[in-house]
Amino acid sequence: MRRGFKAQAERHAADLRTAAGCSDIETIHLPRLATHLKVEVLAGHRVLGDVQPFLDLHREQPGAFSAATFHMEDGRIVVIYNPVVYETGEVLTAQEAQTHGRTRSDVAHEFGHLVLGHTLREVKTIAGYPFLTCDPEQEEEANWLASCLLLPRALLLQAARNQEPDSALAERTHVTTDMARYRMNASGARMQASRGRSRRTAGEPQA
Ligand SMILES: [Zn+2]
Repeated sequence: MRRGFKAQAERHAADLRTAAGCSDIETIHLPRLATHLKVEVLAGHRVLGDVQPFLDLHREQPGAFSAATFHMEDGRIVVIYNPVVYETGEVLTAQEAQTHGRTRSDVAHEFGHLVLGHTLREVKTIAGYPFLTCDPEQEEEANWLASCLLLPRALLLQAARNQEPDSALAERTHVTTDMARYRMNASGARMQASRGRSRRTAGEPQA
């Protein structure tokens, strides 16, 4: 990632969360952010009118397609996500997708590309379906921004101070446990919180 990008992404994510009416320690409501970004978010089978292509794709290569952004001719921007859970093959309802960790991170990743102004470059085909992908650097940037949106530093720090386990944090904020663990480790929030605790302990009068 380019120099300074990580800090920039934290600030950018904070601005976007504010625009979505979300404090820096709250679980972000992605539909509100979508409204702010003037983007529609739809399950793939709602757009194609058929879930079968997603089930076919799942049989071929689970997880090959997560989400993609389409710029329609009429000017609309539509983020389409794969409704099939790749670990289980089950089809998410629109309601379930709202709190499904992987779907949320896939959608936030697409928002990341959008706000960073990334352009699509590469076309690849999986099971006969064409896919547009960005270059690896842009993928990394979109991932990083998405993780800052879902788990900003202030939220991580609060969780660390409360000694909330990664799994509970993940459940509460509707992200995958992998993402919660990854962000916790990358942010150093638990270390910062434990230094704070030992300073407070050291400052207490001795009995
Ligand atoms: Zn991407």
